[in-house]
Amino acid sequence: MFRPLPRNDHGCGWLTSLPTRQPRPPLQAEQKADLVIIGAGYTGLAAARHYAQLNPQAKVIILEAQLAAEGASARNSGYLVDSTLNDGHMSDTGLQQYRDKYALNKAGMDCVERLVKEHEIDCDWDACGKFHATAVPAHEAKLQRFSSLLKELDLEHKMMAGADLKQRLGTQYYCSALWTKGGVMLQPAKLGRAYIELLPENVSLFENSPVLKWETTGKQVRVVTAMGQVTAQNVLLAVNGFMAAGKIKRDRAFPLTLTASMTRPLTDEEYGAIGQPKAWGVLSAQAMGATVRLTEDRRIMVRNTVEVWPKLNMGGRHLLQRQGMHMRGLQRRFPQLNGNLFDSLWSGITCISGNNGQVFERVQPNVFVAGCYNGGGIGLATLFGEQMAHLASGQMTDTIAQIEARPKPTRLPPQPILGWGVRLRLLRDRLLARKEN
Ligand SMILES: Cc1cc2nc3c(=O)[nH]c(=O)nc-3n(C[C@H](O)[C@H](O)[C@H](O)COP(=O)(O)OP(=O)(O)OC[C@H]3O[C@@H](n4cnc5c(N)ncnc54)[C@H](O)[C@@H]3O)c2cc1C
Repeated sequence: MFRPLPRNDHGCGWLTSLPTRQPRPPLQAEQKADLVIIGAGYTGLAAARHYAQLNPQAKVIILEAQLAAEGASARNSGYLVDSTLNDGHMSDTGLQQYRDKYALNKAGMDCVERLVKEHEIDCDWDACGKFHATAVPAHEAKLQRFSSLLKELDLEHKMMAGADLKQRLGTQYYCSALWTKGGVMLQPAKLGRAYIELLPENVSLFENSPVLKWETTGKQVRVVTAMGQVTAQNVLLAVNGFMAAGKIKRDRAFPLTLTASMTRPLTDEEYGAIGQPKAWGVLSAQAMGATVRLTEDRRIMVRNTVEVWPKLNMGGRHLLQRQGMHMRGLQRRFPQLNGNLFDSLWSGITCISGNNGQVFERVQPNVFVAGCYNGGGIGLATLFGEQMAHLASGQMTDTIAQIEARPKPTRLPPQPILGWGVRLRLLRDRLLARKEN
């Protein structure tokens, strides 16, 4: 049983810059399928495409509560990355775990890159690497430790500081940064749109069709929406941050609500005032610090809030209040830019576990679940979707073995203790990151 979901806000700058798309009709009456997929983000769309290709005679149905690829899969910051900073990785066991995690992220990146190249997807692909930057001298040691780790893994990177860094980013806010080659900046909503366009003919996508409940009846699964139902051999639950809303893995994965704003394109004068840097993406050296991007078309995106939000999607005055924080983040970095340049503001839901583990599981003989990418889901969601298609087709792959060898999400405390605990942890992280927002 799913609890009713709030609607997405309409402010996401990645989406508003795209042409409008005619939504596919909602599910009506009764349908039969070999595979029914709940949720049309990167995971569900990648799984549908791949399953339909592996089984050309099969019928696949995707049910999406709102519009396909307009949830987190359009609202994210567009960083497709291999290495991540915040890991306890310096012990020997930790190092091996980090290697394994890196290998999986890299497989996710490669999976997206293969699709982008093969289908000539226009998603503003920019293999410019990524920066992990800090404005706090005390945090520089973290970057040095990360540099040592990357050296051990033989991954190309460099430390930057002073005038070089200022010139590269167009801001003197950061005192130092570590640049890694393994990072692509892309337009997430364009990628999601392309995944819809790539769906083969044996896939039917129904939008505005929230699933109310699903149940297994012997060898079949019945999935019910307000106006119709699907009976299928197999079901894939690909709802990511909405798992708990559907009582799926709620003792392992929980949702967080993030908000971001993006400016209009800077004028020539404004762009000149920041030194005309090339596009870049900065991640903070501190958990909960801001993610900031300068895009190819000279927009600046700031994402610097992460919260436990009871309604999941955030709207109205709550969302507007968050823009005040985005504004402070922008002004700290670019005091030479005057006025409110933001022309878009949105929230999005991501899914986190207690130990960074992801969900990739056959929970019943004909029920599959994939999600919980802990903030790094562009590559992993695409990879997990494709690999779920293999698993649901009865095929084992080396990548499935690689995914299954990763630590599973640890058990979480029950609510309301979980909510309190996460809020406390976020509060602590927010305090530590107060100079990085
Ligand atoms: C603000 C933000 C920034 C992020 N930045 C990055 C980043 O830079 N790099 C990165 O790799 N990752 C990032 N992420 C994470 C990444 O976006 C996600 O991990 C990824 O999009 C997950 O894809 P998904 O298909 O599993 O889930 P989603 O895209 O969330 O799709 C799930 C779909 O299920 C649908 N659904 C839910 N319930 C039902 C129901 N009952 N019936 C039918 N449909 C239902 C939802 O409407 C939704 O469309 C970010 C996330 C957010 C929110």
